[in-house]
Amino acid sequence: CGVFGVFGVDDAPGIVYYGLHALQHRGQEACGIVSAEEGRLASVKGEGLVTEVFNGDNLSTLHGRMAIGHVRYSTAGGGGRENVQPFVFRHHTGDFALAHNGNLVNSRELVRYLEDKGSLFHSTSDSEILAHLIKKEHSSEHRIFAIIDALNMLEGGFAFLIMTENRLYACRDKYGLRPLSIGRLNDGWVVSSETCALDIVGAEFVRDVNPGEIVTLDRNGIRSRDYSMYKRNCMCAMEYIYFARPDSDIECCNVHAFRKESGRLLFEEAPADADVVIGVPDSSLSAAIGYSEASGIPYEMGLVKNRYIGRTFIQPSQAMREKGVKMKLSAVRSLVAGKRVALIDDSIVRGTTSLRIVRLLKAAGAKEVHVRIASPKMTHPCFYGVDTSTCDQLIGHRCSVEEICRQIEADSLAFLSEGALLRAGNRKEMCMACFTGRYPTALYEHAAEIGRK
Ligand code: 5GP
Ligand code: SF4
Ligand code: MG
Repeated sequence: CGVFGVFGVDDAPGIVYYGLHALQHRGQEACGIVSAEEGRLASVKGEGLVTEVFNGDNLSTLHGRMAIGHVRYSTAGGGGRENVQPFVFRHHTGDFALAHNGNLVNSRELVRYLEDKGSLFHSTSDSEILAHLIKKEHSSEHRIFAIIDALNMLEGGFAFLIMTENRLYACRDKYGLRPLSIGRLNDGWVVSSETCALDIVGAEFVRDVNPGEIVTLDRNGIRSRDYSMYKRNCMCAMEYIYFARPDSDIECCNVHAFRKESGRLLFEEAPADADVVIGVPDSSLSAAIGYSEASGIPYEMGLVKNRYIGRTFIQPSQAMREKGVKMKLSAVRSLVAGKRVALIDDSIVRGTTSLRIVRLLKAAGAKEVHVRIASPKMTHPCFYGVDTSTCDQLIGHRCSVEEICRQIEADSLAFLSEGALLRAGNRKEMCMACFTGRYPTALYEHAAEIGRK
């Protein structure tokens, strides 16, 4: 998912609209904007793309100098209108709105705790858990204390925007799993899941929200509080590998530069005898350029993507996904016929994409296809809101590299090492749990999924 917020700028809802449009790649299922004007929260939400849900008419019903927005990519919680964010919550001390990226791992425990205390849940979303926690802890004095107490009960990966009638709070989980950046726009502020959306609205990057930090934006300016003593720097590796836009900087490392470096290191670790390097559009093009530069093998645009189809992975059913992939890519026959191809992709999840592309290239006359993946073999599910949440969906959980190679009908296959992934971002630490099984958080009921007690 993606979140975007504006404080202290004229026509905040309009700016959020542009921000969400730049974050569309983070979720195409649903989106919404909530604005605050004179203590009143108003919202426009719906299922579909930003350009489908919003139009001049409904946007003109939102006013004010403060607004937050959300684009949804459903993992936990699932679809349905009642799960479209941002959520608005009514409370006797003042209404508030919430937008959330990520996933909690202890939601079942928290729901049980809250229901025991009389909370009634309307959706299956983690945001509603935070809202109920805030309400429970709230003694009407200072909302920030309620938020601090509530955030300390959450376990998992998250970036939250909380908007009251006069304030915007931006928070990140203490592990630093999900990204969130702050920008300056005129006399006001912008908060965004990715910096590409700051650029689009003309805001200047100021800094990232830190792990375990709550940033408060109001008429007194910007203030910071740590809600947790325990902090890590476990940014999600998948943000760099696949999820984020190449023009975004995550924790001050440009995503395109990261991918390109991962492609260079991939060649060092797994050279291929090939005549041409081809990347799978769009997320693998940076890595393919790096692989080509490091190897001296020319880079070619051997695959063309139909840009009017959403990301295959995000369409809910396997049948839909399979249809989607077929409609999505074509090979440029004149570039691949008779050639040995080094095919670079960012990741293998189910393995369906790779198999189709290998077949596509061979059908277009490729002599050999050597698949090189710019991330390690994915063996474990993600519980923090990005990828699959069951083991058996993952081909890398069931199969060895050799078996995957055979199944995707490639002539050879290699993955990037974990060490190279860290080096690509010049990082000491990163969440790589879906490759290593070393999860930064406790897993609660999810422990069973990976066979732990
Ligand atoms: P597969 O077909 O192996 O399940 O999917 C891997 C391919 O899907 C990669 O080319 C990757 O770019 C693309 N993809 C689409 N959505 C996602 C996602 O949410 N996570 C990952 N890791 N890859 C995705
Ligand atoms: Fe990202 Fe993988 Fe960690 Fe999930 S498990 S947060 S996808 S690195
Ligand atoms: Mg891809």
